[in-house]
Amino acid sequence: MKSISIAIDGPAAAGKSTIAKMVARNLNYVYIDTGAMYRCIALHAMMNGVPFEDEEGVCRILTKADIKMQPDGTIKLNGKDVTSAIRDNEVTMGASIVSAYPRVRTYLVSQQREMARGGGVILDGRDIGTIVLPDAELKIYQVASIECRAKRRHLENLERGIPSDYEELRKEIEQRDYQDMHREVSPLRKADDAIEIDTSDMSLEEVVANVMDLVASRIQ
Ligand code: C5P
Repeated sequence: MKSISIAIDGPAAAGKSTIAKMVARNLNYVYIDTGAMYRCIALHAMMNGVPFEDEEGVCRILTKADIKMQPDGTIKLNGKDVTSAIRDNEVTMGASIVSAYPRVRTYLVSQQREMARGGGVILDGRDIGTIVLPDAELKIYQVASIECRAKRRHLENLERGIPSDYEELRKEIEQRDYQDMHREVSPLRKADDAIEIDTSDMSLEEVVANVMDLVASRIQ
């Protein structure tokens, strides 16, 4: 069976990683969470006492960030397990700031392309279909209404025992989307050849089935 590359882009908290992981498991593909890499750079800045807004400072320490994504989903930064630390709220907002810096993007995009070499991969992020893998055989642009995204993230937080405020979450998601869509370098946008899936009124199983049908059509 032909091994293809799959790109999933879309706004924050649209459920991209959940779908990507399920599809990767079905196909026995490698899943690469590119957002986690931007989060690692934000955490790396924090650990080095560099404010997110200090572009020069963030870029100066960039190459000292050794990011390792393990097959079981563990993410290591300079040998330390940061899988949950990168989900922290401050890191989340910081990732959206540092991801606007051209040098940060160049550094991470080259690593992402290297990891994706050979196909049999599914990457999710903001610029996969447009910049990282413009030749991906299948490109998906996954969206959902802001209410739906904030509600899903809110329930997820409560389930995990993380304190959560729906209105606050909604504002943060909107702010991140605005920043990600309006930055100069690689802003979030739907690739011309991407297929848009609005998951607002769909179950996880329906979305996965939809994506699996699209994969089948590309593999044939
Ligand atoms: O996908 P996730 O929400 O974990 O991404 C965190 C942040 O990283 C996003 O808000 C965005 O600013 C940045 N990002 C990006 N390009 C990607 C993936 C994530 O700019 N390919």
